[in-house]
Amino acid sequence: MGTIDGLPPLRDVIRTHELVARKQLGQNFLLDLNLTAKIARSAGDLSGCDVLEVGPGPGGLTRGLLAEGARRVVAVEKDARCLPALAEIADAYPGRLTVLHGDALELDLAAHLTAPVKIVANLPYNVGTELLIRWLTPAAWPPLWSSLTLMFQKEVAERIVAKPRTDHYGRLALLAQYRCDAKIVMTLPPEAFTPAPKVHSAVVHLTALPQPRFPCDFKVLQRITAMAFNQRRKMVRASLKGLAPGIEGILESVGIPPTARAEEIGLEAFCALARAVA
Ligand code: SAM
Repeated sequence: MGTIDGLPPLRDVIRTHELVARKQLGQNFLLDLNLTAKIARSAGDLSGCDVLEVGPGPGGLTRGLLAEGARRVVAVEKDARCLPALAEIADAYPGRLTVLHGDALELDLAAHLTAPVKIVANLPYNVGTELLIRWLTPAAWPPLWSSLTLMFQKEVAERIVAKPRTDHYGRLALLAQYRCDAKIVMTLPPEAFTPAPKVHSAVVHLTALPQPRFPCDFKVLQRITAMAFNQRRKMVRASLKGLAPGIEGILESVGIPPTARAEEIGLEAFCALARAVA
């Protein structure tokens, strides 16, 4: 059966280039081009944007991004075995696909991108959270990218969008929601991937806010949330005892009951506490 871009079906690409999935590289491939196009569409209008993709693998999502009209895709792949398959895609879309061979954690990716930038990726599970944290904590805000559309294990996706008083609420939710709108736009069963992972997956879409949702010193906020969530079942008057003298009074002054636990405190209250402590 033909494909919309005239390139071979992904099963053939995998067979031709002998891309047997490697677990240590987090390789769970998406082989359904309708699905990869749908993920690309969930990133919004790509025309006029550079898209950064980490881990293109055999190129299913890359093809979706190009077919959906990305001005240019910059794709970073660690596994050299994937490069010939990606070169075929680059030939089919002249001048629109740049493939970088290397580790996304080590390369200077910003140097290869021109604004506006969107980041779209089916991330390798072993580096996904670290990459997200780096993208959420650049030296300056607003960041180079305007949105992140990222596939994670469902449990990680739930931690990113979680609200207070829920099991998944914690530092990742606060970090993401401090400077972004975050929502889950798609969930996928294990069978959507080859090989099938053990868990469900989900795509999270994060849009960068022009400035943080509530003002405060980001470093102080990080310090407070680290202390509070390291002992998430303890009352904050105990977990934050070392933060400042008279912590009970400070908590009360910003409307946080000293007997509250970290998981009950929302982003706005944490930011108010960061301002009071600073
Ligand atoms: N995008 C493809 C898809 O959706 O079918 C592949 C996704 S697979 C979950 C993750 C990809 O990331 C693999 O191709 C793997 O080789 C690559 N990868 C793993 N670690 C990486 C790293 N540190 N830097 C860049 N790519 C990496």
